Amino acid sequence: MSHNEETPRKSGSNPAERFADYVPSIESRDIVSIRSRNGLLIDGAWVDAADGRTFTTVEPATGEALAEIALGGTEDVDRAVAAARHAYDSVWRDMPGAERARYLFRLARLLQDRAREFAVLETIDGGKPIRESRDIDIPLAAAHLFHHAGWADKLDLAVPGMRAAPLGVIGQITPWNFPLLMVAWKIAPALACGNTVVLKPAETTSLTTLLLGELTREAEFPPGVLNIVTGAGDTGAALAAHGGIDKVAFTGSTEVGKSIRRAVAGTPVRLTLELGGKGAHIVCDDAAMDQAIEGVVDGIFFNQGHVCCAGSRLLVQEGIADAFVDRLRDRIGRLRVGDPLDKNTDVGAINSAEQLARIVEHVEGARQEGCEVYQPPCALPERGWFHAPTIVTGVGGSERIAREEVFGPVLTVQTFRTEREAVDRANATRYGLSAGIWTEKGSRILWFANHLRAGVVWANTFNKFDPASPFGGVRESGFGREGGRQGLQEYLTLAPVR
Ligand code: NAD
Ligand code: MG
Repeated sequence: MSHNEETPRKSGSNPAERFADYVPSIESRDIVSIRSRNGLLIDGAWVDAADGRTFTTVEPATGEALAEIALGGTEDVDRAVAAARHAYDSVWRDMPGAERARYLFRLARLLQDRAREFAVLETIDGGKPIRESRDIDIPLAAAHLFHHAGWADKLDLAVPGMRAAPLGVIGQITPWNFPLLMVAWKIAPALACGNTVVLKPAETTSLTTLLLGELTREAEFPPGVLNIVTGAGDTGAALAAHGGIDKVAFTGSTEVGKSIRRAVAGTPVRLTLELGGKGAHIVCDDAAMDQAIEGVVDGIFFNQGHVCCAGSRLLVQEGIADAFVDRLRDRIGRLRVGDPLDKNTDVGAINSAEQLARIVEHVEGARQEGCEVYQPPCALPERGWFHAPTIVTGVGGSERIAREEVFGPVLTVQTFRTEREAVDRANATRYGLSAGIWTEKGSRILWFANHLRAGVVWANTFNKFDPASPFGGVRESGFGREGGRQGLQEYLTLAPVR
């Protein structure tokens, strides 16, 4: 029986049952109309792949097919790059910034107007809870477009004393965990700076990107300014290795990031990489407990743990560890796992069968390596791909679960005594994307922030994003920044003003 079909139970004295009574509140899917066949956006028109191939996108919450999407090949990438080059040379590069801004503002407003439709589509195609697509993904995507639209006529002010110019044609490749948001992070600065784009969205979650492509047509963008070539890894590889582009911006796994780095090595093609992570929360004994519990829960169970900067490792100071973990266990027992379209749902569907299998394999491996695995009793829906929130204790640090990115709702717990020990444990990873510090003491925050090897360090909060704030990693989490002035510079060439 699925979670949502359960007969409401009476509130019991057991704290885990206190919130058991609730009425499902399912967001209607009527607002979206999904086309059964979707083409590539090349030079302002929807076209089939040159060889006519397609692939299927499915709904993770049901496992059912949603639509056919054109599978772009090398010939399609060629056509898209040529269209982007022509648009760059003939109209976009030399258009006054204030005019480029008008297109981006228009796109941002259209996205806001249709925010509910985008949110429902994102949830259906990707599996994330509607509350997140509605309150986080879509508003932040619009915010990125607005923010960068505002930069388009101020680029010479981005770096004092420097004159800014665009790079040319940008190849952009995005992942499935924040499908539209990652697209907005990529296209907004690129287009604002006067570049044109060929974009390859993730194959399991292309639909909102395609809808955004349709909005660029409604907003009457000049043809070829934004081209979308859908497909899987081969399509992405063809784009990254294309000789006609000036930069590759990639967000995805470290493994693919390395292959792209090899593909562009020795060429003048610029590269930014936003890759995997193994973020740590450091909870000190003076931390505000309730706040830290909520932050840690949000940091890993948010979006099913499909978050590159997820706080997947909890490091908690020894004196409070037992009490803290008890409360964490209790808290995850109250998370609602199930239908992503239900507005009550906290943990939605895992994005694909392959990803679910990877998560299960990681958790099994942890058991075999002697760790203790806790999952609260929760009825998972019978169809679709779901995984219970999971806490792994008895972790030394050398286990695979403690070292590799799981990209699922799985938190490992380790303890520490001293601040030095906490930092050493947090830094004992090849990644370096994010970290969270939980303490009341300002000096501790600063000390940790200076010693953690992570691109983003949050203090007494987690997973906070803002278009004005640069985001990105160090070490095997990649290089380059998205957001803020730093992110803008990744799409510009700068020369001293004489
Ligand atoms: P992935 O690397 O498999 O895929 C990412 C994108 O690259 C997809 O569009 C995919 O089709 C494409 N791709 C696959 N093989 C390719 C190749 N050989 N050449 C070019 N493109 C190729 O990653 P994923 O599984 O979709 O996403 C999860 C990963 O992304 C996680 O590791 C996560 O940490 C990372 N991620 C990082 C950030 C960040 O900002 N640092 C943000 C989101 C996700
Ligand atoms: Mg899908």
